[in-house]
This record gives sequence, structure tokens and C-alpha cells, in this order.
Amino acid sequence: MSNKSLNDIITLDKKSYMNTFGDRLPLCFTEGRGIELTDISGRVYKDFFAGIAVNALGHSHPALTKAISEQAGKLLHTSSVYYVENQALLASKLTEISDFDKVFFASTGAEANEGAIKLARKYFYNKGIDRYEIITLNKSFHGRTITTATATGQDKYKLPYSPLTPGFVHVDINDIDSLKKAVNEHTAAIMIEFIQGESGIYPVTQEFAQTIRDICDKEGILFIDDEVQTGIGRTGKMFAYNNYGIVPDIVTLAKALGGGVPISAILAKDEFASAFVPGDHGTTFGGNPLSTKAGLTVLETMEKENLVENSEKVGKYLMDKIKAELSDLIYEVRGMGLMIGAEFKKPVAKIINKHLMEDYGYLVGVIGDSIFRIVPPLIITYKDADDFVDALKNSAQNI
Ligand SMILES: *Cc1c(COP(=O)(O)O)cnc(C)c1O
Repeated sequence: MSNKSLNDIITLDKKSYMNTFGDRLPLCFTEGRGIELTDISGRVYKDFFAGIAVNALGHSHPALTKAISEQAGKLLHTSSVYYVENQALLASKLTEISDFDKVFFASTGAEANEGAIKLARKYFYNKGIDRYEIITLNKSFHGRTITTATATGQDKYKLPYSPLTPGFVHVDINDIDSLKKAVNEHTAAIMIEFIQGESGIYPVTQEFAQTIRDICDKEGILFIDDEVQTGIGRTGKMFAYNNYGIVPDIVTLAKALGGGVPISAILAKDEFASAFVPGDHGTTFGGNPLSTKAGLTVLETMEKENLVENSEKVGKYLMDKIKAELSDLIYEVRGMGLMIGAEFKKPVAKIINKHLMEDYGYLVGVIGDSIFRIVPPLIITYKDADDFVDALKNSAQNI
């Protein structure tokens, strides 16, 4: 346990850390195991947030702890000037479990998306075709760099940073007419999340996804699928696109890939991947021996423990149960697998969350005033789901 109190840490944070997160939830965790997190005062919480859908294996999974400890004792970093064994192994593994031929590793979701956008533009640049525009969706989230913030369909993330990157247009999710109208002779790619995570768990419809695939085929443009949040088992399939039976051209991954160790990836079909030639793109940290060891171990462990199937089954059970038992309070439950959004009829999310956290010791994400983002580690059991719904019902009774 730490020798500092929560108040000491808050004081230090307020004094020294840039105020980008405002008043955070008044919690600071010192240890985690499985779905449990222990805070600095020794109180144990059950984690149904997983660090924004990152800790797919839960906390301190023995296999991941062992793998990264051993790797740290051998080699952390050598740079991409040299070949990296774990990088080659993880790239190969990702091509086996996906529909893609080539992989590039970076460190964050934004960086993978930035790379995907560069790849799409480079593809047409190589061909001497004047296609550069990227269509994305309103309410999307693609990252915080200037280009990915421009891609993000939410003004609050980008307006202060003008001039923004040129060449981005936005349409509403599932609005097929607007999408068709937005496509023109300069369009290079359509970029979406199959389920919008950050803005409230909004899935695209099958028809909308199929329309994107059809437009991309017809126009010869690229379908970029941002699976930074949905990827690696979160939605009950390895990738969200598997739920739709539609294969995009480029996929980006990040959050769950390293189980908490920063790593992101761009996956692409050969035809598009080959648009990058030596010197076009790079990174210092991306795909280093440690982060790629973490990625390999996450994928191995997910296979061994059938976590994708667990995400599908327990996710469906949890969604159905929330729907059935809180129907008087909740207007809609959205999502797939263990990526669940519960929207309350009234703006009560913050107060219910306060009870859930303080009285019952559960952590979830809150979006705006009325939406819960429930994205637990993929290891949760039916019993964990039952206990959570009981706590949620009790918390809602108190208001
Ligand atoms: C979190 C997220 C990002 C940004 O990832 P960072 O690692 O924070 O840069 C991009 N796209 C989606 C869909 C995300 O959920």
C-alpha cells in the first residue's frame, strides 16, 4: 500500500498535472486482480469499465504478468532499425486470426488511425489519382491528434485547434442517403466504428455497413474500420466486422491488444498495405519487444480461455438481464458482446453511478447524463453479471 493519502495525490496532481481531466472520480487504485481493483484506502471495487475497454484479461492476469516480467528482464527495446522477433510473431498471428495480410504496429489508437489515413491517401497518391477525402461519421471518435480529431465527428474535440487537416467530411450514422451524397470524385475512404464507443455505444446497421462495402467496391475506395475499442473480442467476435460478415480494407486496433501495455496496430490487405514503401511511415516505440510480447500473450490467453466466446455469451446474458430487470428505468440497451450501452429514460446516470460506486463498489463508464458504458474485462462470469445487475437495481432504487 502507498504511504500517500488520496488527498495528497489529488493535491500533487492539481499542482503538477495539466488540467485536461478536470475533477476526476475521487479514486486511486494501487492493485488489481481479475475483475477486482483495490484503492489506496484498501477498498475493493469490481471493474466493469476495464480502463476504457483495455484490460481484456482483467488485472494482473498471471500469464500476462509472467510474460511481460520475463520480457522486461531480457529486452525492452531495440528500435525498428533491427528485426524484432516478437513483432514478426505478433504480426503473423494477427494475419492468421483476421482477413488481412500485413500489419504495422504503433503505440496508441490515434496513431494507428493516423497511419490508416496516411495509407489510404498514399494509395491514391501512388496511382496519381486525386482522391484524398475521408468520410467519417458524426458522433464518431478516432483520436486526439489534429488529423484524428478532425476525423472525429464531434466539434468539442477539434474547434480550438484550427486550422484542421483538410479533406474530412461527416455524415450521420446509418444515414444511407447522406453517405451516398457525400461520396465524390475526391473520396479516398469511408472510415467508421462498427459500434461507436465514446459517444454512447451506437452500432451501425447491417444495411449501412453493407452500403459502405458496396460503395467502396464500386468506387474503388477504401473501407477503414476503426476497431480500437471494438477489436480483440470486445463485441463477442474477434473483430466487430465479424458480426456483420463484411470485410473492410483496413482495420485499426489498440485498446485491448496489449491488455494494458500500450500497443496499436494497422491491419490491411496486401493491395493497400503495399502503398507504403520504405521511408513512408515509422515509429520509435511501435511494436517493441515488450508491447508485442504483451499482444502475443493476450491473444494466446484469449484462445486458451475462450474469452471471445465468453464475451459473446456472458455479454448477451448481461444485456438481456439489464433489459429485463431494469425496463422501467432504462429506455434502451445497445451493443454487442461485452460492449454495452444502457441509456436511462431520465438524466440519472451520474447519480446512479455514484450509488453503484460508493454503496456497491462497482465501476462503469458514464457518458453524458443518461448513458452507462459497460465494458468489463472479457473474463467475467455469469455470476459476476448477476451480481452486477443486482447492484445496479439496488443503486437505482435509492434515487
Ligand atoms: C480510444 C479510441 C481511439 C483513440 O485511442 P488512443 O489510444 O486514446 O489514441 C480511437 N478510436 C476509437 C474508436 C477509440 O475508442
